[in-house]
Amino acid sequence: MSNSKRLSNQLNRLASGIPSSLSTAGYQHIMHTKIPHWSIWLSSVVVTATIIVGWWSVAGSDSTLPPNASAVNSHEVKIVELRGVWSGYQVEPDWDVAAQKLSAANFNAVFPYVCSPGIAYYHSQVLPVSQFAQQHNYLAEAVTAAHKHNIAVHARILTLEMLFAAEHTKSAFAAAGRLMINSQGKTAPWLCPTDPRNRQLLGRIVSELVTNYDIDGLQFDYLRYPGQDYCLCQRCRRQFAADTGARISQWAQDVLPGGSYAPQFNRWRQQQLTALLSDIVARVRAARPDVAISAAVFPRWAEHSTRFGQDAARWVQLGLLDFVAPMNYTEDRLDFATWLLTQRKAIGGRVPLVVGMGPFSDACQFTGPEQLVEQIQIARSFGAGGFIIFKYTDQFAQEYLPCLAEEATAIGASP
Ligand SMILES: [Zn+2]
Repeated sequence: MSNSKRLSNQLNRLASGIPSSLSTAGYQHIMHTKIPHWSIWLSSVVVTATIIVGWWSVAGSDSTLPPNASAVNSHEVKIVELRGVWSGYQVEPDWDVAAQKLSAANFNAVFPYVCSPGIAYYHSQVLPVSQFAQQHNYLAEAVTAAHKHNIAVHARILTLEMLFAAEHTKSAFAAAGRLMINSQGKTAPWLCPTDPRNRQLLGRIVSELVTNYDIDGLQFDYLRYPGQDYCLCQRCRRQFAADTGARISQWAQDVLPGGSYAPQFNRWRQQQLTALLSDIVARVRAARPDVAISAAVFPRWAEHSTRFGQDAARWVQLGLLDFVAPMNYTEDRLDFATWLLTQRKAIGGRVPLVVGMGPFSDACQFTGPEQLVEQIQIARSFGAGGFIIFKYTDQFAQEYLPCLAEEATAIGASP
C-alpha cells in the first residue's frame, strides 16, 4: 500500500472515530468507557481536523521529508521506521530475552540509560562505576544481545543532571563550584554548562562510549536547565556579562522574568546548551561518524526553550541531531496531535521526527495498549520517522508488546 493511501485510510478511520488497528477487545473497552458522547464527538472533530492539517502538510512536503525515515545518520537516510523503547540500564529478566521479545514484535531499537555525569553502568574510566555494574557490564551485555537480534543500541546519557550519583560525588562537584545555583543560592545536582571542566568531562564520556562500545547511536537526555531559576552562579554571571555587554546592577533580579535583561539571558542560556551539544557532537562525529546522534526533549518547544533552555528547534536547524525525539507524554489525543503538528513545522523536514510516547511515564494514564496503538497511527499520519516508547518493563512486554505485534507493528519496519 502506498504511503499516501495508508495515510488516507488512517484518516478515514480516525474521522469515523474508530482507531484502525484496535483489537476487538480494545474496541469494546473503549466503547464501554463512560465518557460523555458530546466529549467524544468534539474531541474527534478537533483531533481529526488537526490530523488533516498535519497530513496535508506531510503530503505537501514529500520532497523534503523522508517518510518513515529511520534513526540513522542523516547522511545516509534509510527508509525504515524506527521502533524503539527506552529502558533502564538493565531489563528483566535479561537483555537477551528482552531483545528476542522486541525483535519478535518487529521493534528495531533500544535506548538504555547508560550514565549520568555522576555514575556509569558500564566499565567507565571516566566516571564512578555503579556497584551494580562492577560485575555486569550492562551496556556491553545490551549491545551483544541486541545485535544478536538485529536491534540497534542507542546509549542514553542523562547529560547534565547527576541523577543516581553517590552523595559524596555530588558533594565533591558542589565544593568545586561545578554545579548549577539558583537565585536563592541553592545548589542543584546539575552540571553548570559554562564550566570548562564539565564540558571536558562530557566530552570524555562520549568519547569512551563511542570508542569502546559498538553502539549505533547516542541520545542526550536531560540536556536542559532544571528550570528558569538556573544557572545563576558567579561564573555564568561573568560569562553572560562578557558575552553580551550587559551592565547588571542587581543580580539576579535583572536576568530573571520581568528583569531588564531577562530576554537576553534566556537566549544566552539556550546558547550555552546549544554550544555544549555542538562540542560533544563534533567529538562524536570525528570519532564515529556512523553513530546516530539524537536528543530526548520536552514537547512544547517554544515554551520549553524559555523555561528549560532547551532549544530543540535550533539544534535541528544547526544539524546537530540526526533525529529528534520529543517526549510527547500525554494520553490526550488533541495535545498529542497539536504537539506533533508544531514539532513538524519547526523541524521543516530536516531530520526525522521520532515520537516519544509514554504509556508508563508519570505524566500519563493510559487505559491500555489500544491507546498506544492509536498514538502510533497518529504519529504515522504526521509522517513521523518512528517512535520510542517509555519504557520497556515486564508489564510492557506482557501487556503491550503482544498487542502491538498484532496491530501497529505486525508488519516489519522495512518496506
Ligand atoms: Zn553556572
